[in-house]
Amino acid sequence: MVITFWGTRGSIPAPGPDTVRVGGNTTCLEVRSDGGTCIIVDAGTGVRNLGNSYLKRRNPDQIILLLTHSHWDHLAGFTFFGPAYDPVYSITVFGNQMAQEVLRRDIYERNDNRYFPVNNDALRADIEFHDKMPKPLIIKDIKIETMNLNHPGNGYAFRFENNNKRVAFITDNELGLQYEGGNSVDEIERFCRGVDVLIHDAQFLPSEIEAHRTWGHSTYAEVADLADQAGVPHIVLTHHAPERNDDACDVLLKEALDYIAEKGYEIKCELAVEGGSLKV
Ligand SMILES: [Zn+2]
Ligand SMILES: [Zn+2]
Repeated sequence: MVITFWGTRGSIPAPGPDTVRVGGNTTCLEVRSDGGTCIIVDAGTGVRNLGNSYLKRRNPDQIILLLTHSHWDHLAGFTFFGPAYDPVYSITVFGNQMAQEVLRRDIYERNDNRYFPVNNDALRADIEFHDKMPKPLIIKDIKIETMNLNHPGNGYAFRFENNNKRVAFITDNELGLQYEGGNSVDEIERFCRGVDVLIHDAQFLPSEIEAHRTWGHSTYAEVADLADQAGVPHIVLTHHAPERNDDACDVLLKEALDYIAEKGYEIKCELAVEGGSLKV
């Protein structure tokens, strides 16, 4: 499996000279199986560049889009996703019901130009929404399992399995607080057990988190503790705060590595970087 990061920023895009290394686009990643099956996760602003790469390759014609939840930073790129305008493509949407509702109601069925100048009849790809998330969802050679997030409005975490490798993608998840409809840390640990890589939200530093409790995010320390408890050997930190420029992201990573060393955890830790890929 190859995971490619097209957007790793949280909350709002943060473009500019200070964020070129880590990237300014919001959440979007692509999961590609060993057999070539592609799945897009979230349609943050990073999905624009991913769409352009699909237009160039003319592949795949059938696009699977999984949505974690309905917040803007995970949907705002969709109206700039090139394949949505091209009748050659069909797009199948799965995932969080509220996110699908927002996409359908505010983009596909709204034609009053409230949010966007182009009328929705320009979106000529064949699109299909699946409000019910099959558990598990099988897309060709990829098996996808879900877990509810601890996040305002809830949402889904996803675990992908292909060729006996497993990756969990858990963004917008507050490990320090159990939400109604969310999960305990023990349940999250069970979801992560057996994964080769855990990609998790680490928007806040431990020194920042108390002022941001109930915002729905985590710290590197909470992610590292979870990985250690679940026996996960590799973590990738994502959903970077918009204020955290490249140098500040380096500081966050160094703090995370120091924390892991201090605790004696045997975990590889890195930052999700826009344009970066991970072979699992
Ligand atoms: Zn977010
Ligand atoms: Zn969110």
